[in-house]
Amino acid sequence: MTATSKKTTCPYCGVGCGVNVTIPHSVDDIVPPVSGDLEHPANFGRLCVKGSSLAQTLRSDDRLLTPMVAGQAVSWNEAVETVADKIAQVVKDHGPDAFAFYLSGQILTEDYYVANKLAKGFIGTANVDTNSRLCMASAVVGYKRAFGSDTVPCNYEDLERCDLLIMVGSNAAWTHPILYQRIAAAKKQRPEMKIVVIDPRETATCDIADMHLAIKPGSDAAVFSYLLQCSAQAGILDEGFIANHTNGFDEAFAQAKSSTPTLSSAAAFCGVSEQDLNRLVGWWNDTPKTVTFYSQGVNQSSSGVDKCNAIINCHLATGRIGVEGAGPFSITGQPNAMGGREVGGLANQLAAHMDFATPGAQELVQRFWQAPNMATENGLKAVDLFQAMEEGKVKVVWIMSTNPMVSLPDTAQVRRALEKCELVIVSDCKAHTDTTAMADVLFPATGWSEKDGTVTNSERRISRQRGLLPAPGEAKHDWWAICEVAKSLGFQSAFSYRNVHEIFNEHAALSAFENNGRRDFDIGHFSQMTKEEYDALVPVQWPVPKGRPEGTKRMFEDGRFFTSDGRARFVAISPSLPQHQASPAWPFTLNTGRVRDQWHTMTRTGDAASLAKHTAQPYVEIHPKDAKRLGIEDKSLVRLVSPLGQVLLKAKLSRAVAPDNVFAPIHWTQQFANASVVSNLIPQVVDPLSGQPESKHAQVRLEAVADISYGLVISAVPLTLSDCLYWCQVPSEQGYHYEVVWPKGQTQATLKAMDLKLPDQSHDVAEWLEYSNPVTQQIRLAKVVNQRLSLLVYAHPQPESIMADWLISQLAINTTLSMQDRLAILVGTPANIEEKGEIICSCFQVGSKQIEKAIASGVCSVDELGGKLKCGTNCGSCLPELKRFIPLNTELAV
Ligand code: SF4
Repeated sequence: MTATSKKTTCPYCGVGCGVNVTIPHSVDDIVPPVSGDLEHPANFGRLCVKGSSLAQTLRSDDRLLTPMVAGQAVSWNEAVETVADKIAQVVKDHGPDAFAFYLSGQILTEDYYVANKLAKGFIGTANVDTNSRLCMASAVVGYKRAFGSDTVPCNYEDLERCDLLIMVGSNAAWTHPILYQRIAAAKKQRPEMKIVVIDPRETATCDIADMHLAIKPGSDAAVFSYLLQCSAQAGILDEGFIANHTNGFDEAFAQAKSSTPTLSSAAAFCGVSEQDLNRLVGWWNDTPKTVTFYSQGVNQSSSGVDKCNAIINCHLATGRIGVEGAGPFSITGQPNAMGGREVGGLANQLAAHMDFATPGAQELVQRFWQAPNMATENGLKAVDLFQAMEEGKVKVVWIMSTNPMVSLPDTAQVRRALEKCELVIVSDCKAHTDTTAMADVLFPATGWSEKDGTVTNSERRISRQRGLLPAPGEAKHDWWAICEVAKSLGFQSAFSYRNVHEIFNEHAALSAFENNGRRDFDIGHFSQMTKEEYDALVPVQWPVPKGRPEGTKRMFEDGRFFTSDGRARFVAISPSLPQHQASPAWPFTLNTGRVRDQWHTMTRTGDAASLAKHTAQPYVEIHPKDAKRLGIEDKSLVRLVSPLGQVLLKAKLSRAVAPDNVFAPIHWTQQFANASVVSNLIPQVVDPLSGQPESKHAQVRLEAVADISYGLVISAVPLTLSDCLYWCQVPSEQGYHYEVVWPKGQTQATLKAMDLKLPDQSHDVAEWLEYSNPVTQQIRLAKVVNQRLSLLVYAHPQPESIMADWLISQLAINTTLSMQDRLAILVGTPANIEEKGEIICSCFQVGSKQIEKAIASGVCSVDELGGKLKCGTNCGSCLPELKRFIPLNTELAV
């Protein structure tokens, strides 16, 4: 058997790591080995735990394989005609703005390009928005206000070469792990490099920080407002740069002085000690090579754009931009959020980094596309778009590769909008998501490993994401489906691409069209590539204009910006707090975010059983003081209620959150848990300039859920658990694992309902094993069918730690269960198997109990733990957590 190795990119985050995939020939069912690409400049061979587990997501049982219209499988022709007919009808009857695309940072640049071209040039609407609106729209507007263009100035090397790294609103250790590891390695090599984490929560990223500034939620802008005026006091303003390359310093500086006049006022606004804030000021003043690295914690805010400009102001004032190891660096969440920005995949962009308001831009794009129906003004941003849908103004929406029923704020509103919309088209590779459940038409899409095209990572680096495997069933590329609909609408010649390479060339040509250095985004060098050259494209940072094939490492080195006068603009900022503040009725501030091993709404990572082991259930972090006051125990079920809705989550007591604050991850959908979609709680408050929702902030109250029983259910077949108050399905390779809660006293009824929903087994020999303890109120039931375990239920009045992995492995045992096996199943603790505890290292499945045991036996450093248990020696994603197991003095002594 021979094998081919192909280079592609990881689809999980904006770091954009290169991946090598070895595809065995002729053996269809072998999972291709995945490894980091040693030559890719984003990761140099490393992959985090999500990237390392890519192969596990390739064999999903839940692929959407045929086009569906009204729940019936149809041919592609029929589905395309249904969609095109309806679009034509609503455009004729209600105008082009009755149609909208809602896209995703997950699709490839070429998919984005044709969607944008169809809507803005041919249908005539700018209603093309994307889930990237939820991720970095504020950063885009911040850059545009300051630079006249959406230009990320820095690169990943700057993160390693700076002397001060300020990480704001970013838990990079979990969300951008390979970047975090590059930073951690740089810090290890140069311990004098200072790292400051600004975040209301103590995250894993704080592990490498010299200081964690635990600010009041949303108060970030005041830190930078204060830094700006301190720069003047310290005499570190770059007067030459300000005079020759910027406008508006005086107004911005005056505003900073008036907003944060003193150390005490700034510290009070941010809720931090004067000493800590002063320490940051000292480091800022002393360190020309400073990078400020920011992400969703800054962007997802009702004043996100202002926060971005408060950061950029500081860099402009001190000339810390356009030089090695310095700059304001926004990091994107999704793998191709940047590619979407490049083609105009946001409703307030036109194309190729041009805006509707840019003089001459509409005519330029119209000429280039030979477009018959050019949109003339901005379209609807994500939240406005779904509100317009509910109001009946948008009548057809085409949602592509995203799950707005989970990711947009206020799920109930999104549901109402999709119910009201006359035609909801969803393109996805998965058959069952919370959003596909709302669709009238489903288009089966190719997914990672099948899709072919380009993506751009957070440092402007364009890489190929290559097709590795054939598309299953009738799944097609998104660009192909868009072009088929476009042709059916009568736009044959403009959408007659034969392959993805032709689309990329056209995109490159548009970027260079009448550009002459006036626009930042220029990849004209690629406009006449052959297919072979496109297939062999190596990662490169744009701009790549004609004659500069090596691309551009860093922007603004010449101090020239893309404003009309070539000068950067300071923006006067008044720091403000989130729109909704705590009140007696809603006393807790909810912060949202991600867990280490999951991605977005789990549509792909949710298939990987190993990734579910680190964090199996949706949870809420609560400070122990608050938990005690409210009678909430660790791991117990908690109800979070906001004015919009409620969710059920498992309590995780933690001092990482401040009192009166809670944190919940966003990943769980109704496919994985019945009552844990955190967006239910989030109001549709947006930044007025970027339209980005304030998704990191909601006011809630907490309620301990009383009179309940906790259960673990393991089954050989999927169960419907509608009788349970709460259920969460934990992915498993051997069977089905559910964590459940039901009302106290209804254990027998719930179990009966579960059994009734099992497939008919009347011809089989079934027996029940039972154990109950009236003192502890534990009940354990096992159903053995034909001598093999079929269903197992543990019920207990309090949350308990149970060796679920071992129990579920019993489903896979082929031999007749012995008496000893049966006893062990009821006891739940086999004598000869070591209990692992909570999984910390996903790569080697090393658990907390094993780590504690190793430390008790004398292991006293992370390196020694790796030597003994292998934990932390592969992807390194668990290193911050491993470090927390090491007693402080021991680690320091090593
Ligand atoms: S950091 Fe991890 S998730 Fe992000 S691109 Fe790299 S391997 Fe993928």
